[in-house]
Amino acid sequence: MINTDVVIVGAGPCGLFQVFELGLLGLKAEVVDSIRQPGGQCTELYPDKPIYDIPGIPVCSGEELTEGLLKQIEPFNCGMHLHEEVTVVRKDSDDSFHVETNAGTQFHAKAIVIAGGVGSFQPRQLRVPGAEDFAGKTLHYSVQDPQQFAGKKLAILGGGDSALDWVLELIDVAEHITLVHRRDEYRAVPSSVDKMRKLVAAGKMNVIEKAKASAIDGVDGLINSITIQPKDGQPVDVPVDHVLVFFGLAPKLGPIAEWGLDINRKTINVDTEKFETSVPGIYAIGDINYYPGKKKLILCGFHEAALAAFAIKQRIEPDKKVRLQYTTTSPLMHERLGVTD
Ligand SMILES: Cc1cc2nc3c(=O)[nH]c(=O)nc-3n(C[C@H](O)[C@H](O)[C@H](O)COP(=O)(O)OP(=O)(O)OC[C@H]3O[C@@H](n4cnc5c(N)ncnc54)[C@H](O)[C@@H]3O)c2cc1C
Repeated sequence: MINTDVVIVGAGPCGLFQVFELGLLGLKAEVVDSIRQPGGQCTELYPDKPIYDIPGIPVCSGEELTEGLLKQIEPFNCGMHLHEEVTVVRKDSDDSFHVETNAGTQFHAKAIVIAGGVGSFQPRQLRVPGAEDFAGKTLHYSVQDPQQFAGKKLAILGGGDSALDWVLELIDVAEHITLVHRRDEYRAVPSSVDKMRKLVAAGKMNVIEKAKASAIDGVDGLINSITIQPKDGQPVDVPVDHVLVFFGLAPKLGPIAEWGLDINRKTINVDTEKFETSVPGIYAIGDINYYPGKKKLILCGFHEAALAAFAIKQRIEPDKKVRLQYTTTSPLMHERLGVTD
């Protein structure tokens, strides 16, 4: 059980800046995100695209903004729990919160900030009849242990970096690989595509382009074959032991919808003084929240993080007045930032 002041759900730009604003007020945070890297939409959807509307930074990429935010929160040593989805949020009788992730990590917190953006990024699923019977056994959306594929026949579905990276990584592990892609152009880096084409030319693997999986055959969670339907032509049955699907990630509101909050279409209603939800002690900032006039912009989420931090400090220390201090002149803030003379 990790004891902390605040659990932040989501390591997007707003969740990261929330760590900073809480840290300035002397509060400790733990951050959880279901994807493997921090940055939310900035790193997941547009890492190289230029952003022009961050105050004081005329232009930066999504990745650069994330790097800057991570650097800025370094003094506060927050716990960062990546590749874990927050599944349970429960209020305890003493007005504190119990939080759990799908990896079994448990937190005891005095407040929660939901900075879940457009939701938790999840792998896009293979939509063929009965696919769920094989999921987690012989149908995979991520690779935990490459050695489980030693000597096995694999079908890898997808045309992005993940699909191509795993083709190249598993080519010497698996008995045989068939790559299936719905187009003949790839979203992966060209050097990976070249390597894959050379392996095909050398007869070391197969590729089926302009095609998609239409059925899986097997029993008791074990796959016998996958049916591939080309755009033009007859379906073919390919004997395989495992199917690996890399269709990218899509956001889903997911478990947040079940925490008893006042939900307004896929967003959470908050007030504009504290950015508190309908459950006292649970706050929501960034793209996930709604209030009249809401704009889904990073700079709006930063403002919300600042006001939520003040409200949380007041909630945790109700008998003290929370004073506004400037980072330029406050010795206490300098100490917290580690910049004391
Ligand atoms: C192509 C594109 C360009 C954009 N350009 C700009 C721009 O120029 N300027 C601008 O201001 N904005 C821009 N935006 C919008 C901006 O990216 C969002 O406003 C911003 O990312 C919102 O930040 P956030 O922290 O609220 O959420 P997000 O960035 O969405 O991050 C939320 C995180 O929470 C995680 N999460 C959700 N639920 C859970 C859970 N239950 N457990 C664990 N983790 C969870 C998600 O995995 C995700 O990583 C752009 C968006 C897109 C798509």
